[in-house]
Amino acid sequence: MYEYLEYHGVRREVIEAMNKIDRKIFVSEEYEESAYLEVPLPIGFGQTISAPHMVGIMCSALNLSRGDKVLEIGTGSGYNAAVISLLVGDDGHVYTIERIAELAEIARRRMELLRIKNVTVVVGDGKNGLAEYSPFDKIVVTCYARKIPKQLLSQLSDNGILLCPVGNELVQVLKRITKVRGKIHEENLMEVKFVPLV
Ligand code: SAH
Repeated sequence: MYEYLEYHGVRREVIEAMNKIDRKIFVSEEYEESAYLEVPLPIGFGQTISAPHMVGIMCSALNLSRGDKVLEIGTGSGYNAAVISLLVGDDGHVYTIERIAELAEIARRRMELLRIKNVTVVVGDGKNGLAEYSPFDKIVVTCYARKIPKQLLSQLSDNGILLCPVGNELVQVLKRITKVRGKIHEENLMEVKFVPLV
């Protein structure tokens, strides 16, 4: 299904994980026919599920390994969290924060349906991160921020990777932050388009 993502630089293991998670389960009935298209789709409440290539690129840029503890800001449909859950395996865990309680509940039910046990969906403000489970090996923000929230930087483990789209509603760049011996390295990966971090 997602073999073409190879041409977007998406890693083999990410493509395999995406092939295992049926995107149709993460969209509402009215969009089922479009479930596999290379576009973001509405999921209600003015939010969207990211296009497949975006999920693939972000999961690749995070360099996920088995056993990683991951924090996602913006659960949305839960699709990205489900793909990450396969990549970190049973020894890893995904904590994902969503501010809209209804979306969080729907995402939780989808994880149950797929018998995914290593994803915890939390309702709250992602800007604060989740101090009680920190530090995280990887943090991924799936909405854009004007500035990377400080709390998230402080909850990133040493040698950890944080991805966050930064910008405004017109232009955003996907930033990759790496923490090496407490020092922050920043890279601009590509131009992207996301809904805002509220
Ligand atoms: N990763 C999702 C796509 C997310 S869209 C997927 O795979 O489907 C971005 C999500 O971020 C939206 O659901 C939005 O409600 C949520 N969001 C925006 N601001 C937030 C905040 N401050 N805290 C938590 N979630 C937030």
